[in-house]
Amino acid sequence: MPVDMTTSPPRTDTPTAAARPARAPLLSLDDALARLLGTVVPLPGHETVSTFDALGRVLTSNVVSLLDVPPADNTSMDGYALRAADVVEPGTVLPVSQRIPAGVVGQPLLPGSAARIFTGAQIPAGATAVVMQEQCEAITAPDGSAQVRVNGSPTEGQWIRRRGEDVARASVVLRAGHKLTAQSLGLAASVGAAHLDVAHRPRVALFSTGDELVMPGAVAPEHMPPGAIYNSNRYTLRALLQGLGCEVTDFGIVPDRLDATRTTLREAAAEHDFILTSGGVSVGEEDHLRPAVLAEGRLDLWSIGMKPGKPLAFGSVRRPLEVGDAAPDGSEDDVSRSAWFIGLPGNPVSSYVTFLLLVRPVLLRLQGVADVAPRSYTVRAGFDWPRGDVRREFVRVRLGADGRAELFHNQSAGVLTSVVWADGLVDIAPGGTVKAGDEVRYLPLSELLT
Ligand code: AMP
Ligand code: MG
Repeated sequence: MPVDMTTSPPRTDTPTAAARPARAPLLSLDDALARLLGTVVPLPGHETVSTFDALGRVLTSNVVSLLDVPPADNTSMDGYALRAADVVEPGTVLPVSQRIPAGVVGQPLLPGSAARIFTGAQIPAGATAVVMQEQCEAITAPDGSAQVRVNGSPTEGQWIRRRGEDVARASVVLRAGHKLTAQSLGLAASVGAAHLDVAHRPRVALFSTGDELVMPGAVAPEHMPPGAIYNSNRYTLRALLQGLGCEVTDFGIVPDRLDATRTTLREAAAEHDFILTSGGVSVGEEDHLRPAVLAEGRLDLWSIGMKPGKPLAFGSVRRPLEVGDAAPDGSEDDVSRSAWFIGLPGNPVSSYVTFLLLVRPVLLRLQGVADVAPRSYTVRAGFDWPRGDVRREFVRVRLGADGRAELFHNQSAGVLTSVVWADGLVDIAPGGTVKAGDEVRYLPLSELLT
C-alpha cells in the first residue's frame, strides 16, 4: 500500500526530513555536491591486480620508477651516429665502423667515423648526433670498406632521445587517486610494474520503482497494457555504473510495497557499498521508498535547483550486525555498518543527468579519486535561450562543425532521444538567458561517463 508521507508522523531519527515543508527551498547543485562529497569516504583497503586487468581502476598507491626511461640515450631515427663536429660541411664522407641494431650495445665511436644505427638502438659513446638515413648515401671505398656521405649539417644532439627524458629514476609516474587509462597502463608497464594496487570496485545494488514499469522482452510492444512503459532507466543506470568501474547487482523492479522495499534494502545493504534507485522520490509523491529507507537507515530528501532533475534522496541503509561484531557505540554514522543510498528521479533524462552530475563524483570518491570535477570548456552558443528557469539548466547540445553548441529541439526531461543525439550539456545559470554567439560552458558527455 502506498504511504502518504505528507501525513506520516515526525520521526525522531530524521527531524529535518520529517519536518520538511511541502515545498522545500531549492538546494543548489554545488551545495548538494559538496554535501555528498563531504559525507562519503573512500572504501577501505585495496587489492593488487595485474596491470593487464587494471583499466578503469583507481590507484591506491603511487607508482614509482626504479629506472630511467629510456634507460640510455638512443636514436629516434634509422641513420648514422657520429660526432656532429666531424661533419665540417655537407658532403663529408666518413668511414662506417660498426652496425648497431636495437638491442645491441655498440663500441665507443672512434673520432672521424660513423656508426650505422637503427631506431631504438643505444647511442655509442662518443657520438653526439644522428643523421637520418634519408640525408645519407652509403658508398663503398676503393678498398671495399663501407663509407657514408653525409648530405646535411647535423646539430649536436639531433635525433637522440636522452636517458630519462620520459621518466627519471625514483620519480612518481602515477599518483594514488589516478583512474587508470590505456595510456597509464602503458606508462606503468614502461617502468616495469606488472601489478598495481587499486581500490576495490564499489559494489552497487540497483533497483527501479514504479508499478507502471514493464521489462522489454517480458511484454511485446503490441501487448503493452494501458499506462505501462518500458523500464529504460534500468539499462541506462546499470551501464553507467559498469562504465564507472562498479560491480552491479541488479535487483530489478521492486514491487510498490513498503515491506518488499524494506526487505530489498536490507538485502542490498548487507552485500553492497551503495544502493541506487530510480523513481519515486518526487516531493509529495505517495511513495514507498522514502519511508522504507527511513525505517532502515537515514534519508534526506533534497529539491535541487537543477533542470532536468530536482528531487534526489540521499542517505544510508544499515547493514545487519554480523555475529561477533563489537557492540555498536550508538553512533549511526559508522559508515562501515551501512550502505550509501541515492534515489534518483524517475524521468529518464533527469535520472541520467543527475547521475552524471551527482552520482558519478560519489562513485569516483568511493574509489579514492582525488579530482572528481569534470572538465568543461567555453564554446559559443548556436542557439537562443530567451527565458531562463529559476533552476540551473543543463541543456542537451551537440557541437557543430563550426564549434558552436546546437540545441536539441526538445529539452523535456522524458525525452531520451535528446541524450543520444547530444554530445554534451550546456550549463545555464538560474534565470540565465543565451543569445546565439554568446560564450557558454559546455560539458562533454565523454568527460562525464568515466
Ligand atoms: P517518478 O520519479 O517515479 O515520479 O517518475 C517520473 C517519471 O519517470 C514518470 O513518468 C515515470 O513513469 C518515469 N519513470 C520512472 N521510472 C522509470 C524507469 N525506470 N524507466 C523509464 N521511465 C521511468
Ligand atoms: Mg514513480
